[in-house]
Amino acid sequence: MESPCCRGLGRAIENPTIPLDYDGALFEYRLLLTTGGHAFISFCPFCGTEFPASRRALLHFEPAEGEIAQIESLVGINDIDELRKRLGEPVEVVATEQMEQFRFANWRTVELIVQRQADAKLRFIAVPKMRDGQTCEGDGKLDET
Ligand SMILES: [Zn+2]
Repeated sequence: MESPCCRGLGRAIENPTIPLDYDGALFEYRLLLTTGGHAFISFCPFCGTEFPASRRALLHFEPAEGEIAQIESLVGINDIDELRKRLGEPVEVVATEQMEQFRFANWRTVELIVQRQADAKLRFIAVPKMRDGQTCEGDGKLDET
């Protein structure tokens, strides 16, 4: 972990009642929101120092526009079997009581997470691939088009 720029920030990060969080792997300071999400902050709220640049871009691929467009063209399909026909088998399937989740890794820079919830609707989430060692699996049908 980088040492904090000032004592105020150092104390705030260690104090669980203050909604600030630090991700040492990504060099990211985050303001934790009451909604459960978070907001990235670029400057120290105590002394005004600019924080070091996030390492997020170094760890993940920049999503290729063409690959995002391919994923967007799938949104609206509401049948997991139809998706399997187009993409091949997912590289991972996780089932919980609330939903099933399918992970397709057909692309170089992004992965597609498809969640099937209790109402049987499919929810599509595109996430950037990690640069370290994540291999492109799947049959790559979309890459041929
Ligand atoms: Zn500071």
